[in-house]
Amino acid sequence: MSHHSELPTPIRLIDQFGRQVTYVRISVTDRCDFRCVYCMHEEMTFLPREQILSLEEIQLVAECFVEMGVRKIRLTGGEPLIRKDVMHLVDALGALPGLNELTLTTNGSQLVRLAPSLYRAGIRRLNISLDSLQPKKFRELTRTGELQLVLNGIQAAKDAGFKRIKLNAVILKGRNDDEVIPLIDFARAQGLDITFIEEMPLGEISEHHRGESFCSSAELRELISAKYALSPTPETSGGPSKYYQMSDSSSRIGFISPHSHNFCGDCNRVRVTVEGRLLLCLGNEHSIDLKSILRSGNLASPAEMLQVKSALKKAIVASLAMKPERHYFDNNEEPQILRFMNMTGG
Ligand code: SAM
Ligand code: SF4
Repeated sequence: MSHHSELPTPIRLIDQFGRQVTYVRISVTDRCDFRCVYCMHEEMTFLPREQILSLEEIQLVAECFVEMGVRKIRLTGGEPLIRKDVMHLVDALGALPGLNELTLTTNGSQLVRLAPSLYRAGIRRLNISLDSLQPKKFRELTRTGELQLVLNGIQAAKDAGFKRIKLNAVILKGRNDDEVIPLIDFARAQGLDITFIEEMPLGEISEHHRGESFCSSAELRELISAKYALSPTPETSGGPSKYYQMSDSSSRIGFISPHSHNFCGDCNRVRVTVEGRLLLCLGNEHSIDLKSILRSGNLASPAEMLQVKSALKKAIVASLAMKPERHYFDNNEEPQILRFMNMTGG
């Protein structure tokens, strides 16, 4: 009999609206080598080490989720690839039976070094953030980033064998809205997909007024349609993206519009923050603390580790009752959510 046999129901993570959680996004660090203007303050204070989950703790949480039916895990951050020894975690998750897909969202700065190991660990899809193809503007938007390093990283990922790499771009009006077409042309030339993400009002950022810079997916689609006819594709990635196809390219163009409440109905995901909070919805504060459970036993002892795991699973199952039906990003100006994106990983 298995150690979780005391759980009352067959363990599938189904919430009160009938949605099954099959996808978990895990933030492995709040730190980053970039300071993107829409994501961070120029001067960020990062969490002290003891407040963030260890790689072993993250692994245990991931194992619990996979044993309860989660099929896809995305590692994000902060910049996941700057966490020391992150490949230990990637290797362990890559070997988890039952996990169909392990993916990663990265700013690309470490890919020259790590792309081959990521591929070897079993990752097959990467999201790489890229908001500009002009070195100077790239530097302005990321404050510390170097474009060439990221471009080399993209090449390294292709060389390592990654297919269907997806670029993520956040477009800010008056900043990089003139780069929408160049970014698409780059994606076409390189055989990549590209998704445009609407800026979300997460965290007080000081650098610009969110309302002034906000560029909606509808505006972007119109701008793009002047050059490339877009036809909607039926497929979804099990997420909030809407994908379009151009007639003469295999590159797909996606749009993520958190402001239009169009995807909460089949939301299949939850998030784990770097501090071990399980967030039931990106746009709400509903969460439970997994860290205190993780630290309630000595994980080096196999018996205690099993107890912790069992307690984690119970807490996760119970937390689903809190998953809100939808979120409310109704006001682009005021951050209603004080967490920064680097805490939740987007
Ligand atoms: N550092 C990695 C990266 O940049 O890809 C992973 C973490 S980053 C928080 C994940 C994604 O969130 C990036 O594509 C980034 O552009 C996006 N992002 C950050 N802040 C955002 C905001 N306020 N609104 C919308 N997207 C945001
Ligand atoms: Fe770092 Fe990613 Fe945030 Fe940019 S968006 S500051 S790369 S975590």
